[in-house]
Amino acid sequence: MSLCYFNEYENLPQEKRRGRPIYLDNHATTAVDERVVEAMLPYFSKQFGNPHSGNHFYGWEAAEAVELARAQVADAINAAPDEIYFTSGATEANNLAIKGVARFYRDKKNHIITCVSEHMCVLDTCFQLENEGNRVTYLQVDSDGMIDLDALKDAISEDTVLISIMTVQNEIGVIQPMAEIGAIAHENKVLLHSDAAQALGKILLDVKAMNINLMSITGHKVYGPMGLGALYVSNKPRVRLKPIFSGGGQERNLRSGTLPAPLCVGFGKTCELAVAEMPAEAERLQKMRDGVIEKLTSELDGILINGGMEHRVSGNLNISIEGADAESLMAALPDLAMSSGSACSSASEESSYVLQTIGLSDKMAETSLRIGLGRFNTENEVEYAAERLIEEITNVREGRKKISAAE
Ligand SMILES: *Cc1c(COP(=O)(O)O)cnc(C)c1O
Repeated sequence: MSLCYFNEYENLPQEKRRGRPIYLDNHATTAVDERVVEAMLPYFSKQFGNPHSGNHFYGWEAAEAVELARAQVADAINAAPDEIYFTSGATEANNLAIKGVARFYRDKKNHIITCVSEHMCVLDTCFQLENEGNRVTYLQVDSDGMIDLDALKDAISEDTVLISIMTVQNEIGVIQPMAEIGAIAHENKVLLHSDAAQALGKILLDVKAMNINLMSITGHKVYGPMGLGALYVSNKPRVRLKPIFSGGGQERNLRSGTLPAPLCVGFGKTCELAVAEMPAEAERLQKMRDGVIEKLTSELDGILINGGMEHRVSGNLNISIEGADAESLMAALPDLAMSSGSACSSASEESSYVLQTIGLSDKMAETSLRIGLGRFNTENEVEYAAERLIEEITNVREGRKKISAAE
């Protein structure tokens, strides 16, 4: 079932290698698990009904499948099924949560607290809300990438309606202390939203224990389909939102639009698998990730890890490599699919703002690589990747030395 063709690489010069690069970019997206594909397939063909068609069997059948999926999603984060609203992904869920709350409560309270290393879909939403008259505080992070809880407490005022802090950072993998943040929010009667796109299936999520009122998740970061995610909205306390879409009033008037039943079914299965396999998977990924660190740092100098190691998801590694810019390195490593510090969304050439928030210079950010290990990576692949990295880092560094000697 492995999706990688590692064996085809063996004993072949690079230009002759068939098959595909080893995929080490599981924070960008993930392959859909075969078991999820299998669960979805009937809903694309024979069981194709519109889940909102209340008049006949096709609709009832699709609706039943969607409601089962909703319960599976709810279970994964300890929510109730009627607290789950399907969306097109985490971008939409983040927009709906933050704009929805800000616009509903603006006349009473208009201050929002978030953090400088949030995903751009959260930051850009906040910029938009500032234009609409909200006040936004952007908390700094320390060199590990963690927010300061005292700074959070200090930022809260009578006027604060919402705190939005991501559970797991998508570039450096650090985990914010959501339960502590939740306790602070609760004490101050402020709503708490969290972008948990990178957390689902990687750490335990419990919206009740963490006092989280709104949570965004998405399928394609956890071996589920692209184009389907969810927003959790707590019933108790009841959180009110102004919808973004106008339309038929699906999803209890919060998110108009026909639900894609096959994707909902897939996301339900995704959530079930993610939670069931998390403990063993986290351990396996950590072993492989720590193996890469060990190999790189024992053979090379000038390898710096970006972001703290203490509170970090197990499949994430983000490093800066002195004397080897990431673009040259990736060009020399077409057999590995990784992401550079300047990558992410991007049309823009700017180096990662996230790495800047933890104090990296532009120059060091340009030498940074993000390696995201996932469910379908094998030990063989990861060992091979570490060896190739060592080989090409050495080559790039030596090439630079030669150039500077010739100058
Ligand atoms: C991928 C990602 C998103 C966007 O999710 P989509 O489902 O692709 O819209 C938001 N936040 C974080 C932290 C992410 O990693």
